[in-house]
Order: sequence, then C-alpha cells, then structure tokens
Amino acid sequence: MKYFCVIGNPIKHSISPRLHNIVYKTLDIKASYLRLSLKNDERLRDVFFTHKLDGANITYPYKEIAFSICDEVFGIAKKIGAVNTILKKDNKLFGFNTDAAGFMKSIEEFKTKNVLVLGAGGAAKAISFALKDDAINVDILNRSEDKLNFFNKNGFRTFTHHDNNLLQNYDLIINTTSAGLNNSELPAPKEILEYVSKNAKYAYDVIYNKNTEFINFYRDKNVTCKNGFEMLLFQAAYAFNIFFDNEGKEDEIANIMKRVLLL
Ligand code: NDP
Repeated sequence: MKYFCVIGNPIKHSISPRLHNIVYKTLDIKASYLRLSLKNDERLRDVFFTHKLDGANITYPYKEIAFSICDEVFGIAKKIGAVNTILKKDNKLFGFNTDAAGFMKSIEEFKTKNVLVLGAGGAAKAISFALKDDAINVDILNRSEDKLNFFNKNGFRTFTHHDNNLLQNYDLIINTTSAGLNNSELPAPKEILEYVSKNAKYAYDVIYNKNTEFINFYRDKNVTCKNGFEMLLFQAAYAFNIFFDNEGKEDEIANIMKRVLLL
C-alpha cells in the first residue's frame, strides 16, 4: 500500500484526494490519498517520515518552503523556487512543479505570442516561466510593487496598476490573482483591462470553481475564455505520473480524474 496526501492550510476545500483516489480505484492501484492540514511549516519535512508518505502535493501557503526542504529539485521548480509535488524515494525528497506543465497543457489549443499576466504570486511565477520557456513574450501587471522584483530580475517587463504607461495589447490575458475568488472584484482597474485587450483572442482565469467577474468581463467582449479547471486537472495528472512513474499518459489519467465532476 502506498500513501499520498495534499498538504496546506486551509486544506478542507481541496479536491485533490477525489482526483487521485478515483484513479487508484479505476486502475486498481493499492494506494490512498488524504488531506493533511499543517498549522505551520516547521514539520513539513518530518511529516513525510512520521506518516510514512510516498509522496505529496503541496499547496498554499507552503510551496516555497517545500522547495527548501527537498534533497533535490527538478525543472521549472528550480527556477521559480516553488514545489507543488514531492516524491519520496530511498528516504530522499525530490521536488517538482506541475502547475506550470498543467497550465501549458490546458492552453495547448491557444495560438499566442504576447501575454499579460495579472498578479505576481506563486501561480504567476509558474505560468510566466513556462510561457517564457516556450519563447512567448510575457509582461506582468500587479497591484503592488514588492512581488514584481523577482520578475524584474528574471528579465520580464513589469507594471503596477499606477505605473502602466508602457503596457501594450496582448493576445492572451491571464488572471492569476485571487480577486474574484470569494467576491465579484476584477483583478485590475476596468480601464486597464479594456486597454490591454484591444486585440485579445483569449482570457484565462486560474480560479477553477466558478466563472469570475474577469471571465464575465471578457466573455461580454467575445473573447474566448477559459477557467483554471483543466490546469488543476493536468497538474494532478502530472503529479500522478511522478508518483507512479507513468510519464506520457497524462491524457488518460486526466480523463479518469474528470469523472469526479460527474459524481
Ligand atoms: P499568491 O498569494 O502567491 O499571489 C496572489 C497575487 O494576487 C499577488 O500578486 C497579489 O497582489 C494579487 N492579488 C490578491 N488579491 C488581489 C486583488 N483583490 N486585486 C488585485 N490583485 C490581487 O497566490 P497564488 O499565486 O498561489 O494563487 C493565486 C490564485 O491562483 C488562487 O486563487 C489559487 O487558488 C489559484 N491557483 C490555481 C491553480 C490551478 O490549478 N487552477 C494552481 C495554483 C493556484 P499583491 O502582490 O499586491 O499582494
């Protein structure tokens, strides 16, 4: 029997256990996936050993600390300093970030060259670096300055809501902020959202469980819109592949995971 879990705080709302457990059940895999709420980050490394975990997904607010407790970190997780998937093997912890790959998979059908990312937190980092690695131009707009330093240092053009004269037009606009999650806020002033979208083809919101005000705003302008559900689905499918050495079969796994929506 193998044991996995999702670790965060708060964690009650997480649908990861349902996504992973339905695959174990369907494919007759002897494993179980649980939720683990950690009050603070002090015990993050220890829980892998005390709970005899084979792996875990890490969510808010522990992705950065997860990066620092791994013995080795791979791929884009290394560039952005954030890990959302940890595999324990031979008593060592190996870190990955599947948010980036999950996002890229979810926009496979988009033809985009010039992207504006709203927000500068963990999701913005994963998405921006993944797009940049694909030779797509990415600018970042955040309401405040602090978190933009990381992006400046890594060669992105950055703007705040008050310092936005050089913003252009973009074919894809992505909301990575939590504006709209529990309210009807837009992630940036309306005038900016209007201005940057003159030639927009797509709008994407990483929030996955509702159509936000951001999505409604662009849908009214006949822009093709997508929410973060597929990103969530594919980050989970890629994590499953890491846990079970199942590389290349993410479509099959995501299709099984999708069935939780029908339950
Ligand atoms: P962080 O806390 O790291 O960053 C949040 C960012 O949003 C900051 O840049 C913050 O700006 C900005 N922000 C927050 N509230 C507002 C607001 N009201 N108006 C404008 N900007 C705001 O969060 P994460 O990046 O980890 O997560 C962001 C969202 O992405 C969450 O809703 C999360 O659920 C979702 N997510 C979805 C995934 C998926 O698979 N679909 C995967 C990962 C995350 P400032 O710097 O000024 O504070």
